[in-house]
Amino acid sequence: MPAGIKGVSMLCSALLARTRAAAPMAQETVHYSHSEKDFILSPHSKKAPKRMASLMELKEIFRSADAVCFDVDSTVIREEGIDELAKFCGVGDAVAEMTRRAMGGTVTFKAALTARLGLIRPSYEQVQKLISDNPPQLTPGIRELVSRLHQRGVQVFLVSGGFQSIVEHVALQLNIPTANVFANRLKFYFNGEYAGFDETQPTAESGGKGKVITHLKEQFHFKKVVMIGDGATDMEACPPGDCFIGFGGNVVRKQVKEKAKWYITHFDELLKELEER
Ligand SMILES: [Mg+2]
Repeated sequence: MPAGIKGVSMLCSALLARTRAAAPMAQETVHYSHSEKDFILSPHSKKAPKRMASLMELKEIFRSADAVCFDVDSTVIREEGIDELAKFCGVGDAVAEMTRRAMGGTVTFKAALTARLGLIRPSYEQVQKLISDNPPQLTPGIRELVSRLHQRGVQVFLVSGGFQSIVEHVALQLNIPTANVFANRLKFYFNGEYAGFDETQPTAESGGKGKVITHLKEQFHFKKVVMIGDGATDMEACPPGDCFIGFGGNVVRKQVKEKAKWYITHFDELLKELEER
């Protein structure tokens, strides 16, 4: 790192440095594969459509998961953090268009992030002022859902292509420890000017959310990890994630809605799943 650069957060806290103790819960075995042809149907469900069978399996995994990872932008919060930052810095329209292209999966995540941040060039002060003046708006039902998961002993993580300082603010509101936040880290010069972002974070790459899930499984021996999110980058994290739940409560991504076996538009649907058993 060039002299004169400081990080808002600790730049050196790479994935492997995370040592938070976790106690994975004992899990029952669920027969599940990511290939539809491998789903095992009971004698009573031979005539059931494959889609229904796979959905049932996914729901069983969600109910017995030992870790749930949430995307943040347009999932846990109503807006896209980087778009809000761009608006705040006066380049909202240009950056919103770049975000739309990134979500559609037509450019690599890192290339899109580099281009957008190159336009925004947010200062340290602007990021702090955004958080204090326009704090992220929680999606209805998320507070209750996270609380319920915590009550059940489920580990909750925020895995975001957004920025650490903003996502940590969200985590604080949901009683999620900052050690459970995986996001991108902005860098600033001593005078507060934008100095780039930490390109070594897994969340800076296409496929980065999957890498985070793999890391979580290795470190904490989680057997079943659920990923919930609105975007293509969330869906592609499964596998290694065991269950993807598409979320369309804030914005509907056509590709995700069409491909996700389980797609919801309100977190109440997941709360009900937890109450039924
Ligand atoms: Mg999102």
